[in-house]
Amino acid sequence: MVSPPAAYQPRPGSVLDVDAAFYDRLAEHVEQRELVDEFVIPIRSGRAWEVPEGYLCRLRTVDGPQVGDLNIWNRHNPRERLWASRTRQLQAAHVTRHDRLWSTLPYLRPMVTITADTLESYGVDSEGGRVHDLLGTRCDPYVNRILSDEDFDLHCHSNLVRAVLPWGLTEFDVHDVLNVFQCTGLNDEDKYFMKASPARPGDFFEFFAEQDLLCALSTCPAGDLSIPLWGPDARDPLEVCRPIGVQVFRPPARLLDGWTAPQPSRYAGRHGLLAPDGPRG
Ligand code: ZN
Repeated sequence: MVSPPAAYQPRPGSVLDVDAAFYDRLAEHVEQRELVDEFVIPIRSGRAWEVPEGYLCRLRTVDGPQVGDLNIWNRHNPRERLWASRTRQLQAAHVTRHDRLWSTLPYLRPMVTITADTLESYGVDSEGGRVHDLLGTRCDPYVNRILSDEDFDLHCHSNLVRAVLPWGLTEFDVHDVLNVFQCTGLNDEDKYFMKASPARPGDFFEFFAEQDLLCALSTCPAGDLSIPLWGPDARDPLEVCRPIGVQVFRPPARLLDGWTAPQPSRYAGRHGLLAPDGPRG
């Protein structure tokens, strides 16, 4: 069966047309980077951190497979944040090297460009599973109430809520995530499935910040997703929970020659609204 072409095609020279050589150079010159921040997010917790424009951020499975739920905001304006559904259309439902993560309206610009992904070769498995998922969203205590009738405070949504509070953000700023290291797909009934993460110790997912960012990551309480959190076979997956490491790097300035930060969308209309006439005499 021949599949239909993608609906969203890059126009040459547009912001969808990625300069792969530029990002490959950033990924290659690892020894010339300066490590400016490094920490490990323990199991079943969350943390937020800044990634300045022009820097690189690497997420690592330090001890083995573990899913991480990632949120991204413009550091100066939390209304500009990751837009998972538009990113699925513009890139794909699972993202890898050279894909971009796009921001919400009215900005609609790349927030990050992925520079390296050690799981890129996983591709699509025999059951249709792929890695780094934008199809699903974070686990949360409300859906947990529906599926299990129990209260649990360490779901990704709650971990992200606690992580962003010191930055002046709240539960209402937490949004649909990129599920890093998570293997998912749609089954024959078009329903969402999750599989055990194929990540090994030391696997990483790295991105370039196209603007000043606030990022937040939750180490999912379901760990590597090899044990179901809900359903008839559910049990506590604590034994498959592992930490995730975060590193932030400043690349050498010469590697940024010719790069300019993407600007918000140039749409200049007003949605067809006319300017008000003012009071009539
Ligand atoms: Zn989760």
